[in-house]
Amino acid sequence: MSFAASVLTLYPEMFPGALGVSLAGRALEAGTWSLDTVQIRDFATDRHRTVDDTPAGGGAGMVMRADVLARAIDSAAAEGDPRPRLLMSPRGKPLTQAKVRELAAGPGVVLLCGRFEGVDQRLIEARNLEEISIGDYILSGGEPAALVLLDAIVRLLPGVMGNDQSGEEESFENGLLEHPHYTRPQEFDGRLIPEVLVSGNHAKIAQWRREQAERLTRERRPDLLDGVK
Ligand code: SAH
Repeated sequence: MSFAASVLTLYPEMFPGALGVSLAGRALEAGTWSLDTVQIRDFATDRHRTVDDTPAGGGAGMVMRADVLARAIDSAAAEGDPRPRLLMSPRGKPLTQAKVRELAAGPGVVLLCGRFEGVDQRLIEARNLEEISIGDYILSGGEPAALVLLDAIVRLLPGVMGNDQSGEEESFENGLLEHPHYTRPQEFDGRLIPEVLVSGNHAKIAQWRREQAERLTRERRPDLLDGVK
């Protein structure tokens, strides 16, 4: 069964975007995953097709209306739809590779992309949305975050990556950043490929890579070391 993604957005033209090319694009064409977009505005009921309103309590910006969003979600994911419903949100749980793996193993996702100041809190509660953040910075909308999340998921789907093993050696998969890479030419700008990598000694190479991974992680992301297996 293929992985089914539904994306609720005010800008469906942003999809599949970057996911229409390369590995993800080929997998989309092959039916390994499917993508449907829902135009939130189609679920507005007034003449101006309004999806947002001023914040209760005052202040700057606009808030997406719970009633309009609820109708959009209900059209994309009928009752009993087993897919998790996620709201892209800077207040959400930071996305991790472990979460990506969990989602990739499931039936699909329903993704809601916020705009403006965000969405009415009652919608999040009433439709049981899980908030996911892609990092500690603010985007102008949830669409790029949804593309990031889907990219990370799709490359893990069975058959998408040519060399399946490469998926397991990446940064974060074992709690470490990955070791540095080299390829031909043997000499570049007076710099040589580290001797050990051209030695043909696979045990030494594995050891060197592990040491480099640990060194890089200690230097750059000591926070990750707590979780090293
Ligand atoms: N007022 C909000 C930010 C709204 S940004 C706040 O201060 O928390 C508008 C929309 O962009 C959000 O509703 C969300 O869907 C998306 N977005 C912004 N930054 C994001 C991030 N780091 N991760 C995921 N989605 C994000």
